[in-house]
Amino acid sequence: MKIAIIGGGAAGFFLGAQLASPFLDVHIFEKASTPLQKVKISGGGRCNVTNACFDPNILVDFYPRGNKELKSVFGRFQPGDTMGWFADRGVPLKIQEDMRVFPVSDNSADIVECLIKENQKNNVHIHLNEAVKRVIQSGHEFEIITSKDLYLFDKVVFASGASKQAWQMIEKLGHRIIEPVPSLFTFNCKDSRIKDLPGTTFPHAEVKVKDHALENSGSLLITHWGFSGPAVLVLSAWGARALADLKYKFTIQINFIGYHIDTALDALNELKKKNQNQKVGKYAHFDLTKRFWTSVLNDVKIDPEANWQEVSAKKLMHLATALTQAEFDIHGKSTFKDEFVTAGGVDLKEIDFKTMESKLIPNLYFAGEILNIDAVTGGFNFQACWSEGFIIAEVLKNT
Ligand SMILES: Cc1cc2nc3c(=O)[nH]c(=O)nc-3n(C[C@H](O)[C@H](O)[C@H](O)COP(=O)(O)OP(=O)(O)OC[C@H]3O[C@@H](n4cnc5c(N)ncnc54)[C@H](O)[C@@H]3O)c2cc1C
Repeated sequence: MKIAIIGGGAAGFFLGAQLASPFLDVHIFEKASTPLQKVKISGGGRCNVTNACFDPNILVDFYPRGNKELKSVFGRFQPGDTMGWFADRGVPLKIQEDMRVFPVSDNSADIVECLIKENQKNNVHIHLNEAVKRVIQSGHEFEIITSKDLYLFDKVVFASGASKQAWQMIEKLGHRIIEPVPSLFTFNCKDSRIKDLPGTTFPHAEVKVKDHALENSGSLLITHWGFSGPAVLVLSAWGARALADLKYKFTIQINFIGYHIDTALDALNELKKKNQNQKVGKYAHFDLTKRFWTSVLNDVKIDPEANWQEVSAKKLMHLATALTQAEFDIHGKSTFKDEFVTAGGVDLKEIDFKTMESKLIPNLYFAGEILNIDAVTGGFNFQACWSEGFIIAEVLKNT
């Protein structure tokens, strides 16, 4: 049986690595001169292979798109299986405190080499510098026209990542493509209140997009360009489509301390009562940095040199509001450490997730970022590639 895998990335190579059978003639087509380029640069060169979340029911919560469909997929191959798979092939992985999983060597090249070696062991033909230009269904076979030749295959797997050209080919085959938009980005904001505060973090912040049901809590970071940190990145993933519709212009409301405004006001009144003769700016409160505390006092026009007893009830209310309901206008987005994924792709309704096969065209399969599946950062995007590749391999080996 002749199998074409279009795309030599994480999904394509993980699939090929498992197709050990003398009855299968497997070909990977990769348009670039080197395969697995994204794996190589991933995780800052360390490759965040997966995440130590071993319960599929919890794991799916990290996928803004694909969470329903991936439950059964992860039921068959999940992060624990990924860790075992690489360890069995001489690449042990380690779990960091934040649950992200990396090679013990902290070197993505080990993952790349392992995947290449396993494909070579299976006699997979790796066609580099060979872009697939057209896929035509012809009876029970597929004609594949590449930049170099024309081939016939029994089965075709699209593992071509976020590729406009591939989506156009798939559309021509009759599938619906959900319009791709970026996911995982930081918010650009020019505001005098944060101008001098890059590097300031807020471990328990809450970020809401005003007038939209989009909010997230977690750690927030002020950068030179605006706001970043998990609170923003996760929000950008869940709101990828809504924020694209807003053309990345919207207002956010930030709770820097994670307290309800009434609780914050009570705490400020308590501080006033207890520290009547102390300067308001002497110590920062609510685990905030001194720099931020001084800045927020200045914003609400409370003199840091004033004593607590001099601060009026109205000023305290302003301070509570600035700490818990501060509004900032966002104008645009930036990528996070060059790490971005695409929301959108092949419509999940048209895929049978028991096999990853097209419901419209028999013998056509999909894996990886080509699908309308994406996750927040933390190794989840690769995990989807490994699990989907595993399922297709099981199907093809047993055909
Ligand atoms: C900088 C960066 C860092 C990242 N770090 C992490 C991380 O640490 N952990 C994590 O989980 N996720 C990470 N991600 C996301 C992750 O890289 C992707 O989710 C993943 O690579 C998708 O794999 P894929 O195989 O679907 O697509 P890709 O890895 O993009 O591979 C698709 C391949 O198909 C080829 N191709 C496309 N069209 C054609 C064609 N017509 N003919 C032939 N070949 C074609 C492309 O050249 C490419 O090599 C990162 C992303 C970026 C950009």
